[in-house]
Amino acid sequence: MHIQAISLFPEMFCAITEQGVIGRALKNKLWQFNCINPRQFTDNPLGYIDDRPFGGGPGMVMMAEPLIKAIEHAQTQQSKPAKVLYLSPQGKVFSHTQAKRLSKESGLIFLCGRYEGIDERVLTYVDEEISLGDFVVSGGELPAMTMIDAILRLKPGVLGDELSAQQDSFAQGLLDYPHYTRPASFQNMDVPEVLLSGNHALIKRWRLEQSLRRTVTKRPDLLSDLDLTKEASGLLKKIQEEQDSHKTEHKK
Ligand code: SAM
Repeated sequence: MHIQAISLFPEMFCAITEQGVIGRALKNKLWQFNCINPRQFTDNPLGYIDDRPFGGGPGMVMMAEPLIKAIEHAQTQQSKPAKVLYLSPQGKVFSHTQAKRLSKESGLIFLCGRYEGIDERVLTYVDEEISLGDFVVSGGELPAMTMIDAILRLKPGVLGDELSAQQDSFAQGLLDYPHYTRPASFQNMDVPEVLLSGNHALIKRWRLEQSLRRTVTKRPDLLSDLDLTKEASGLLKKIQEEQDSHKTEHKK
């Protein structure tokens, strides 16, 4: 996958190109990356790519021409036309489903805004506006890096163990189960007995139950879209009945 970012701050991307599993995957050529600075595409002798907003008001707006030229240049670097994603608080909120969908693309171009944002006319060159959530950060670089990491984790070979991404929260629609490592007892807190039992069938069932319990407690909204196995449906029914009886006891 060839990922490109259009950004005034190319150095920021070292956080993903030089660190961790995503950085290692780049060294192993599992993805390609380059950053394009729109300042390359301005005729302004001082390299300005922003100007005051028409109609007045605070802040500066990134100009259309250097951004559109940067997008066109990025497309010439791709083996086939790539989706252009504009990072924007006004976009559709990013999720595991989006990450999975985008991980199937052969190339992606992330357009990172700054200041008050970009000239509206640039949006005619954008395929999708994507948001990290309902808040505003100062630039598109951090949202872009977060999304690139989430997308690349889903690509074969990027994580040391293929199973890691499959058992992460959201991958199967549920939250991840609790994890423990040595020591088995710490400050009077013991690791659940079943995890020390060596019985893989029991451990698997316990983990499924814990995933369901956590989802019921922390993110019940996720349960409505689930296509559960017979075993999971049975466990969920038991957990919900338990909760109902707790509530009834509490009321008494
Ligand atoms: N005036 C814009 C608005 O309210 O919609 C916000 C501009 S923000 C200060 C500058 C840039 O940061 C945006 O152009 C966008 O690229 C990026 N950005 C800010 N918040 C974001 C979010 N929640 N998700 C994705 N990108 C974001």
